[in-house]
Amino acid sequence: MSRRRQIYEGKAKILYEGPEPGTLIQYFKDDATAFNAQKKGTISGKGVLNNRISEHVFTLLGTIGVPTHFIRRLNMREQLIRQVEIIPIEVVVRNVAAGSLSKRLGIEEGTQLPRTIIEYYYKDDALGDPLIADEHIACFGWASQEEMNDIADMAVRVNDFLCGLFAAIGIRLVDFKLEFGRIWENDYARVILADEISPDGCRLWDMTTNEKLDKDRFRRDLGGEAEAYQEVARRLGLLPEGENSVLDLDQHRAKRGK
Ligand code: UDP
Repeated sequence: MSRRRQIYEGKAKILYEGPEPGTLIQYFKDDATAFNAQKKGTISGKGVLNNRISEHVFTLLGTIGVPTHFIRRLNMREQLIRQVEIIPIEVVVRNVAAGSLSKRLGIEEGTQLPRTIIEYYYKDDALGDPLIADEHIACFGWASQEEMNDIADMAVRVNDFLCGLFAAIGIRLVDFKLEFGRIWENDYARVILADEISPDGCRLWDMTTNEKLDKDRFRRDLGGEAEAYQEVARRLGLLPEGENSVLDLDQHRAKRGK
């Protein structure tokens, strides 16, 4: 593994050079950060679960025609992806008030929003990923108007699909973050969904108990983060029945030679 060339190391993932030009290997770490990396820790088994959950979600999105960077999962912690030029915008979709929206506007967490909100943040750790408007995106040329239209359309489709997917397993999709990238085909650039979709970048609440099944458990020191991520994977049908721990999952895969 270490012989491969590392392209980039982020807070939760590492990117390595892929086997063919235009591909990368995305490695999922157990590291967790919050509050712009001021809080650091690890969630044991998180990387394995996020790799699997993201694979599942991206594969399903592919089947409804949302283009993504996902090619295939390689092993427990790695997936093969298409190399993209990341658009430096974090796209946040909100269905229910929580987190920074609640804080910024004084709206109680858990308030159902009368309509879905799409927000944009400038992806810059040094600046703390500030909230931006379309005007900033256009002014500084971070994405074209056409690209922003495609991004907003895809964000709405992803939200509709994920709301249904999670509702079917008793989970409310409160909000989530998406990232997009450009791929070049001759002189033409196309925008596709990149990064990951996992409990690291989503707020997922149990529909009956409102229990948090996402990274807020880590952010807010609630404990039980690994169990929460596992519960999401289990409800998505990604953990074999009766085998509940990541360790079991590990052994199961090993037995099957994956
Ligand atoms: N989010 C993320 N990465 C970020 C910021 C936010 O994945 O750098 C996700 C977060 O998990 C939540 C949604 O985007 O599901 C909205 O986050 P919010 O703006 O409320 O910020 P937070 O409260 O996490 O600081």
